[in-house]
Amino acid sequence: MNQLMARLYDNIDEAKAFALSFTNFVYDYDDVIIDDYFIIPCKHCKRMIQAKDYLAPKANCKNPCGILTTFHFGVSIELRDQLMERFEISEQDFRPIRNKRGEIVYYQITPQHTMLPLQKENDWKAAKLCPQCGSLYYKDHHYENSKGEKYYYISQQALDEMHDINVTYECFSRFYIPRFVISRRVYNFLVERYPRTHYFPFYLKETT
Ligand SMILES: [Zn+2]
Repeated sequence: MNQLMARLYDNIDEAKAFALSFTNFVYDYDDVIIDDYFIIPCKHCKRMIQAKDYLAPKANCKNPCGILTTFHFGVSIELRDQLMERFEISEQDFRPIRNKRGEIVYYQITPQHTMLPLQKENDWKAAKLCPQCGSLYYKDHHYENSKGEKYYYISQQALDEMHDINVTYECFSRFYIPRFVISRRVYNFLVERYPRTHYFPFYLKETT
């Protein structure tokens, strides 16, 4: 079935969890500035916190899985319903995306569950600590397979306690965005329906 992930990773069957990496952009309105969605509570580090729901025209929401221009991820209304029906995923794990008429046209993925730290497994080093508010973000270190495709590691402990949909404990880049991580069973469901969707696999790291 020409599944993208199976072509990029020889050992994809061994992956235990997957970070979302959808590539179809859900563009918002031309006259909405990205900064409008966020507030900046700390002047020193300028960490951004999303205060408003994302806005997008219905015509831009045709893909079941998409990436927002704020680099968060989203799903169609239908897919969100299916995920809530089949998995331990709740309404709180999404935030509505509306058009300018106020109709819900898509959903942003906002996982409520935070995973255990994975700094040791992935050699994630703190990039910047704000002396004012204590906010911290990490440099995105990753591993690459022989095809140059990136992957991460997860500990058994983090795997055991993760949910169907999660954010990493660590945030990355000056935008403080975590990785959005789904369980193996959610991944199986998604790739079966959408074989072209892309993810970054997490493999188990045996600790001594
Ligand atoms: Zn700060």
